[in-house]
Amino acid sequence: MANGRTHDRITLITAGCTVAIGFILGEHAVEIMNSSQSFAVARYHPSFPILTGLGALINLWIGPDLDLSGGKAKRWWGPLKMLWYPYGKLIPHRHVLSHFPVIGTFGRVVYFSLPLLPAMGCPGFIMWTVTWWAQPILFGLLLADMMHWVADGMPVRV
Ligand SMILES: [Zn+2]
Repeated sequence: MANGRTHDRITLITAGCTVAIGFILGEHAVEIMNSSQSFAVARYHPSFPILTGLGALINLWIGPDLDLSGGKAKRWWGPLKMLWYPYGKLIPHRHVLSHFPVIGTFGRVVYFSLPLLPAMGCPGFIMWTVTWWAQPILFGLLLADMMHWVADGMPVRV
């Protein structure tokens, strides 16, 4: 099982590889994403590799180990770490709700967006997640989360 610094290095490598692969694949990356039903993107945009890498980097701030009431939140959120205190208290470390691919990513994005939900409404939140710029960011975050899960030994704690 990897420690926090190892996870951060893996996240940085994932972000760099994501940007490089995105630029190498170019429009073919969109074709690959469109072939999976969960991330269908209508058209290619030149900013996709950067946005996907940015999404992977965001994992440093909203990664799976926020379920620890100390570590990651303390290191990456500074005085705002208290925002993640309820998350760390409600979800046991390496639980499916924080670490399992897609479920953990979706849960943290919803948790992080909770203050915006009353203003946006549920339809507005869903519309945000399907915008052309949010999809590559979410895809990058999902990739980094998957690398984190693999480095943790693929835990399935319920
Ligand atoms: Zn972890």
